[in-house]
Amino acid sequence: MRLSQAFVPTVKEIPADATIPSHQLMIRAGMVRALAAGVYVFLPLAQKVLARVMRIVREEMDAIGGQELLLPSLSPIELWEQTGRVKAFGDTLFHVKNRPLVLAPTHEEVVCWLARNHISSYKEMPQIWYQIQTKFRNEPRPRSGVLRGRQFLMKDSYSLDRSREGLDRAYDLHAGAYKRIFTRCGIRFFIVGASSGAMGGTGSQEFMMESPSGEDVIALSEDGTYAANLEVATSIVPAAVRVPGGTAIEEVHTPGVKTIDALSAFLKVDTRCLAKSVVYRAGDAHVLVLMMGNDSLNESKLMAVLGTDVRPLEAEKLRELTGADGGSIGPVGLRGFTILADNRLKGANGLISGANRNDYHLRNIDLERDCAIGGYHDLRTVEEGEPSPNGGGNLRIVRGIELGHIFKLGTKYADALGAMFLDENGKESPVIMGSYGIGIERIVACHIEQNHDDNGIVWDRALAPYDVHLIAVSARSAQVTEAAEALYGELGRSGVDVLFDDRKETSPGFKFKDADLLGMPYQVIVGEKNLAAGKIEIKERKTGTRTLVPKADLVATIQNLLS
Ligand code: ATP
Ligand code: MG
Repeated sequence: MRLSQAFVPTVKEIPADATIPSHQLMIRAGMVRALAAGVYVFLPLAQKVLARVMRIVREEMDAIGGQELLLPSLSPIELWEQTGRVKAFGDTLFHVKNRPLVLAPTHEEVVCWLARNHISSYKEMPQIWYQIQTKFRNEPRPRSGVLRGRQFLMKDSYSLDRSREGLDRAYDLHAGAYKRIFTRCGIRFFIVGASSGAMGGTGSQEFMMESPSGEDVIALSEDGTYAANLEVATSIVPAAVRVPGGTAIEEVHTPGVKTIDALSAFLKVDTRCLAKSVVYRAGDAHVLVLMMGNDSLNESKLMAVLGTDVRPLEAEKLRELTGADGGSIGPVGLRGFTILADNRLKGANGLISGANRNDYHLRNIDLERDCAIGGYHDLRTVEEGEPSPNGGGNLRIVRGIELGHIFKLGTKYADALGAMFLDENGKESPVIMGSYGIGIERIVACHIEQNHDDNGIVWDRALAPYDVHLIAVSARSAQVTEAAEALYGELGRSGVDVLFDDRKETSPGFKFKDADLLGMPYQVIVGEKNLAAGKIEIKERKTGTRTLVPKADLVATIQNLLS
């Protein structure tokens, strides 16, 4: 492609709303334009990259026996009502105004509808169906460019099985395919393990990439073998040790002392001897959670234990129930609360906690002896530097972006929509499903997040829109033009995909800047001086390494570099 004719509207200015590198670079490199918030136009360079990603995805999906189909975006709302997902998606679901239809945010319902109508016997399974299709989600405040669009391409696949073993197999096949897809796309990723629970499934893994632009927070072991969302991550921390002697509780006056650190300094004791009380409202119930010292309570873990939403208990209510304010609350003699404690405090004694009387604390508390603990659970949030639970070194807390998700759905959707089949014994059973998604544009944006420098994008060969960026440095020189034109023809004939900067009026400086910004793996630079010596310069974008090769060897050298 000749840059003089190509529609590649590069710009110098970074738009104010583009805050992350991939968003900024995709706009600067003339790849995308925002038509509306979260809605993007993909220009020719971006379309070429998307095509490369989709090709890799299709090859790997086909290799695990996936069959490509195409499901519609318009979907009868009735199906979504039957699975309860009109409510579950809430405002994220786009509704159609003049028909009882929604714009599909994902396709479990439609797949189940297909299975209900066309799969009737165990003999017709297993099946793996996949598509690459546009999804619609009314994401609140999208602000990360194509990483989070309101309309985006997803490869979604669904497995239909007659047994749990079948589902396990389909799931493992997908895990393998996903590893190959992200590896081939040149993305460094990690896998975050099963956070079963809220979604009701039996297993799920997220394929993630570390990035400060990410919205998920993950605990990652040094060696990368442990990765878990902070919401469920655990670590190895020493539990409380019982101290000898069963000393009776005594009250201590602690005027104005409200925080754990202040209390520890005031009483000259280690923070680990202090039991901090955190109070919540959970529906109509009141919950007091005891945490060791400065450990921070993990609300997600608490919600998982209680099976319901929680919110902090209002100050007035707390005073009404305990007669004291936050900072002086404790588990001894407390009424009207369910008391839970973090595992770390299991069986602890010699503890100090609030006296439920402002400016007073109690010491020598023995949780077993003095309190009615309703249960010990893992309720703490892990911290940077704590040992990983699997022995993989210390934990780092990083931000991540979800690239893909594999999920054992089980029979949840088949039950709701009546997708049944007759098993070997003639018994009717619900189809066992798995669902597996990958964001196509998100792969592109993530690739750029990981592969760029101050000057622009640094494409990996697998995704680069072109293999080579050929630059006729001074297109006013007849020799340069003639040599560059000849190379353009030869490279093209030998199967190399070339973007040719043949622009006549553009200065060499601009051409070099654009070549770095667009980021093709190799730049072939045809300059007057080198040409006079029979040489052509090759610059590797990634390393900046420049080599001079005889003009006659150029095509072979490039072919070598690309193979
Ligand atoms: P996220 O937590 O980032 O919102 P999700 O859990 O909603 O993702 P899934 O429903 O599992 O995502 O969708 C499968 C894949 O589709 C995701 O792993 C991601 O790569 C991609 N994806 C999801 N939402 C978007 C979006 N708004 N824009 C672009 N890609 C998306
Ligand atoms: Mg989402």
